[in-house]
Amino acid sequence: MRDVLQNMADYDHEQILFGYDKVSGLKCIIAIHNTTLGPALGGLRIWPYKNEDEALFDVLRLSVGMTYKNAAMGLDFGGAKAVMIHDPNTEKPEELMRAFGRMVESLGGRYYTAEDVGSTLDDLSYVAKETKYVAGLPGTSGNPSPVTGWGVYNAMKATAKRVWGSDELKGKKVAVQGCGNVGFSLIEHLLEEGAVVYATDMFEDKIERAKKAGAIPVEMDKVYDLDVDIFAPCALGAILNDDTIPRLKVKAICGSANNQLLEPRHGKALAARGILYSPDFIVNGGGVINCAEEFAPGGYDKERALKRAAGIYDILLKIFAIADERKIEPYEAANIYAEERIQKALEQKRMFFEK
Ligand code: NAD
Repeated sequence: MRDVLQNMADYDHEQILFGYDKVSGLKCIIAIHNTTLGPALGGLRIWPYKNEDEALFDVLRLSVGMTYKNAAMGLDFGGAKAVMIHDPNTEKPEELMRAFGRMVESLGGRYYTAEDVGSTLDDLSYVAKETKYVAGLPGTSGNPSPVTGWGVYNAMKATAKRVWGSDELKGKKVAVQGCGNVGFSLIEHLLEEGAVVYATDMFEDKIERAKKAGAIPVEMDKVYDLDVDIFAPCALGAILNDDTIPRLKVKAICGSANNQLLEPRHGKALAARGILYSPDFIVNGGGVINCAEEFAPGGYDKERALKRAAGIYDILLKIFAIADERKIEPYEAANIYAEERIQKALEQKRMFFEK
């Protein structure tokens, strides 16, 4: 077993809750990384982790990512994540999800949960029977993907502005990996502006849908070798690695997938090849923006969420400016951008008053 407290110290976590329930067999870990900006928001990942170490490693890493993403998107939320050790393709009975809901409730609002890999809106509806600290339920902000897709499209325009001096995507060739919820939404926006879109997916129906919309289908493995302008990873993480980077002919990478770089050094490898990598957690921030809008005064408003997600354009330009100023890469500048916001909030908290 990892030395949990030492791991917390390494990543600077505030709190970790290990949850077990005898009735349902629930095994979960909730990692609250940082609540300087507000209650911690981050989804529930349900995954058949091989052991506790693997689950702990994932939740620690993912929760740090949420702190940075929420901060960079200008949200009044800190970062956290929950993982449940369970195969999401097997039954997820009501008592299991409710047991998780009770764990969330026990944190008294320090953590808001939401949908993530392996958890569905139906699962969250059970969670919500035990706690009000759930975001993204049906009838509230709902499916974030259209807002995420709109954010990725706007991020791509900012990316184009940096590379080509104009944010016009008309005529640009873009390869989209993954035509799922976000990928397809991005494809629609790109085609509407007149971009030439190449699309790949592992499922024929997804490819067919993209083709019908006007995209050019490509085989899954060929996507890395295409002679195009922009690569948009919208499927899996870790796809920017020693095998794929030397094959890329693009000038820029901008997509929704989380953790696209296998390791931080791959960010440097892209820069060395003259490829601009727009940091994933900025590009795909539309999803958390959508969730957070639920808590805005007056409740959720999709138009407002879309408007905010379009603001990712300006956020990215600011990050490029920091990168220039400090002579670092944009993925490093994105961390600084998020950290500075947290630091400012911490300093303002020096002045005490009852809220
Ligand atoms: P999705 O499951 O709807 O779509 C992913 C698609 O990728 C699927 O159609 C799948 O068949 C395809 N795919 C998987 N492996 C592939 C491969 N090797 N090559 C080509 N295609 C492959 O998921 P989504 O909601 O569209 O999310 C896409 C990515 O964006 C994920 O990494 C997700 O974590 C990230 N993301 C999503 C949101 C959101 O709002 N949905 C927000 C932030 C980040």
